[in-house]
Amino acid sequence: MKPPPFEYHAPTTIEEALAHLGRYGGEAKLLAGGQSLVPLLNFRLSRPAALIDLNRIPALAYVREVDGAVRFGAMTRQRAIESSPVVADRVPLLTEATSLVGHLPIRTRGTIGGSLAHADPSAEYPAVLTALDGAVVARSACGERVLGPAELFQGYLTTGLAPGEILVEIRLPAMPEGAGFAFEEFSRRHGDFAIVGIACMVVGQGDRCAVARLATAGVGPVPMRLRAAEEILERDGLSEPAIEAAARRASELVEPEDDLHASASYRRHLTRVLTGRALRRSVKRMARG
Ligand SMILES: Cc1cc2nc3c(=O)[nH]c(=O)nc-3n(C[C@H](O)[C@H](O)[C@H](O)COP(=O)(O)OP(=O)(O)OC[C@H]3O[C@@H](n4cnc5c(N)ncnc54)[C@H](O)[C@@H]3O)c2cc1C
Repeated sequence: MKPPPFEYHAPTTIEEALAHLGRYGGEAKLLAGGQSLVPLLNFRLSRPAALIDLNRIPALAYVREVDGAVRFGAMTRQRAIESSPVVADRVPLLTEATSLVGHLPIRTRGTIGGSLAHADPSAEYPAVLTALDGAVVARSACGERVLGPAELFQGYLTTGLAPGEILVEIRLPAMPEGAGFAFEEFSRRHGDFAIVGIACMVVGQGDRCAVARLATAGVGPVPMRLRAAEEILERDGLSEPAIEAAARRASELVEPEDDLHASASYRRHLTRVLTGRALRRSVKRMARG
């Protein structure tokens, strides 16, 4: 199918894009990599009056290390993230998660900002932002504001971004030196959206677990930090019984629903299995400080 007619603007600066956005009062859509938006247009599930194409704004594509965090321009392609040495060194969980996003041609067009603004609960990037407690910067004609994961992800495909705002930057704290990490997911075929995914990071201190981070994809309308499971590890360490207890707790914390792809009980089961796998792989990678 073809999309319904729309006006098209290709600004070259963020200010110009904001001016266009303001003119349409919520009736325009921003176009990033188009990997989610274009299918929605073609199926006529989205009928914006105008598309404001962000692809010609060079100021929106970068990877920078600033004050112990890695900052990404919203239009940074997923492929650029996957091959970035800075990302591999400072936030390797993101490198691993990126390799699981669709297929290479999709990652070549798809952007980090587009994925987070689209807020698909099965997507990898929202889970990583949640696990690492990152933030995004939204800019409007009135200025900038910073949103954490809980403010950004409000519901299924729904964010806390206002109609006049552009997500301009993503900030992820650099992972501590020697942290173990893993992104585990189960999907029907390679490249499909995950039925369930788990983003994991652990930091060891001798026999103790100084920090544990676990976040979900695919088991509810928004990604979820599994804080009570993390607490088991931070209290009891990273032994096999503690990992098994944390994985069991994780499966009790999530609130999945039945849908076309899987039943709620299957997703709960996957949460337990994948949390265990993610923790075991993270522990193998971890340097004990
Ligand atoms: C076959 C296929 C398989 C896929 N598999 C996966 C997968 O396994 N995992 C996964 O995570 N994704 C997957 N995707 C989606 C892909 O990763 C997209 O790149 C991503 O969802 C959207 O990014 P985009 O840059 O293409 O955004 P677009 O499609 O251009 O935009 C998506 C939405 O975000 C809004 N938006 C975009 N940029 C901004 C911004 N800067 N500020 C505010 N709003 C903005 C748009 O208006 C639109 O509503 C798949 C896609 C396809 C076609």
